[in-house]
Amino acid sequence: MTARRIDGKAAAAAIREIVAAKVRDFEQRIGRPPGLATVLIGEDPASAVYVRSKNRATAEAGMAGFAHSLPNTISEAALLQVVTDLNADERIDGILVQLPLPSQVDATRVIETIEPGKDVDGFHPVNAGRLAIGLPSLVPCTPFGCLHLLKAELANLAGLEAVVIGRSNIVGKPMAQLLIAESATVTVAHSKTRDLPAVVRRADIVVAAVGRPEMVRGDWIKPGATVIDVGINRIPTEDGKGRLVGDVAYDEAAEVAAAITPVPGGVGPMTIAMLMRNTLVAAHRRAGIPDPEGL
Ligand code: NAP
Repeated sequence: MTARRIDGKAAAAAIREIVAAKVRDFEQRIGRPPGLATVLIGEDPASAVYVRSKNRATAEAGMAGFAHSLPNTISEAALLQVVTDLNADERIDGILVQLPLPSQVDATRVIETIEPGKDVDGFHPVNAGRLAIGLPSLVPCTPFGCLHLLKAELANLAGLEAVVIGRSNIVGKPMAQLLIAESATVTVAHSKTRDLPAVVRRADIVVAAVGRPEMVRGDWIKPGATVIDVGINRIPTEDGKGRLVGDVAYDEAAEVAAAITPVPGGVGPMTIAMLMRNTLVAAHRRAGIPDPEGL
């Protein structure tokens, strides 16, 4: 079998198109566009690339962007003040503080300072808790994007065996919550899991969010499984430029799986599309109008 290649780029473009149309409706109705503030601290090249893409997507969606670029030496108190000011700014519906943060700043304190209704990353304990108990919340963008791809592929996830590899607060844990809510039977694996290949072999759905290049091999995959590869790993190449690979050995896994996301072009574009979606939803909730439909 050669697996279907799940086109995250096309799925993300479709979502961003719907979001842009609904941004126009919102602006007509409320008299201002939804607004997203991004906060970039320091000069980490990867963070700078991510934030640039998010700012570009905000403009393309017709939303108001408020880009803040702060020095790596910023104190925790000064950063918390920036967040507090963004919380109070009525033009802003979403606040995204790009992680990781410099060592003098406690990321948990920063996340806890963001107003939960503006927490478009979905990392605030209020949003994490609401997701866990099945209440409406703002859901972390990457796992939400993965779920969207899975539902587009499989329609109904009820009763399927899902194995999530990784238990981070930003990907693995919320992914597990989303799959439980879809009535999948969920196993969360991590670095202490015994015989990981055997655990993964049980899975109808594999979500790999580990950060280890091509760790998941083809012979770990159950024939006909759907594989979502969240990993983004740069490996060295002879020309010195490096190459992006996922956490799954794509060519091997594609021999066995029914469908699989490529890296790049799979989960990555979905993350930004879901950020746009979350900002639009946050704007609706803050304006006291029902969530936009079809997203
Ligand atoms: P993370 O916080 O480093 O978590 C990695 C998880 O993998 C941990 O739970 C860890 O287990 C587990 N792990 C590590 N080695 C393992 C092993 N040998 N066997 C089984 N599990 C193992 O990473 P993250 O933030 O969740 O990100 C994971 C990957 O996704 C990274 O490559 C990252 O770049 C990528 N990512 C992509 C997007 C996107 O938009 N596509 C967004 C976010 C992240 P322990 O808990 O036991 O340490």
